Amino acid sequence: MNNHVVDIMAFGAHPDDVECASAGTLLIAKDNGAKIILVDITRGGLGSFGTVNQRTEEAKKAAMMLGAKKRIQLNFIDGQIVNNRDSQIKIIELIRFYRPKIILANAFIDRHPDHNNAANLIKDASFFSGLKNIETHYKGVKQLPYRPSAVYHYIQDLMIKPDVVIDISNVFPEKMKVILAYKSQFQDSEDSSPVGIKNLLKQIENSNQIFGRNVNVAFAEGFTKSTYIAAKDIQELF
Ligand SMILES: [Zn+2]
Repeated sequence: MNNHVVDIMAFGAHPDDVECASAGTLLIAKDNGAKIILVDITRGGLGSFGTVNQRTEEAKKAAMMLGAKKRIQLNFIDGQIVNNRDSQIKIIELIRFYRPKIILANAFIDRHPDHNNAANLIKDASFFSGLKNIETHYKGVKQLPYRPSAVYHYIQDLMIKPDVVIDISNVFPEKMKVILAYKSQFQDSEDSSPVGIKNLLKQIENSNQIFGRNVNVAFAEGFTKSTYIAAKDIQELF
């Protein structure tokens, strides 16, 4: 059944994860007509800079720039994302309601522990969502099982080897503008602080260049996939 309500559902442990690691991929998908929904698992309450409300306003602005139909904030506790059945049910309810073809999630191995936990939570919820004996209700309606076609994990702070890279050369400047929507999150410093905005943008530029270099393009975003990448003809992969 091809009854997808949205094409891509992009989850992030914190507002700005999706943008830093996969805004280019989402901008291209948007330009190609994809329906996109963003889900922030927490509202980033432990962030060192800015307030939660500032961050939420910035997240709304970034969602508009990405052409997302909706941005959902789940209010899990920042710094305490756990992959248990209660957490999975909250994710499954959204997956079954919006029936995304593709899911994006944090990286399994990353600097922030919430990213690793979110990666496993989203991967497991995507699988369990397909099991009819896990019953969920959303907005008072019993839900049908549904499993997305693929879950891709965007590479963010730690350089790990991607399974797939997406050429974002044409939208790279636009990606940088989307990240700048989160201006409260970054110290506006001229110095060498690793959390200074100049350094963060430089780090993203460098990693996107490294992913791009391997496939002879200027900039790319990298993703891993925990299951095989399948095709009916090897030529589909080009
Ligand atoms: Zn994060």
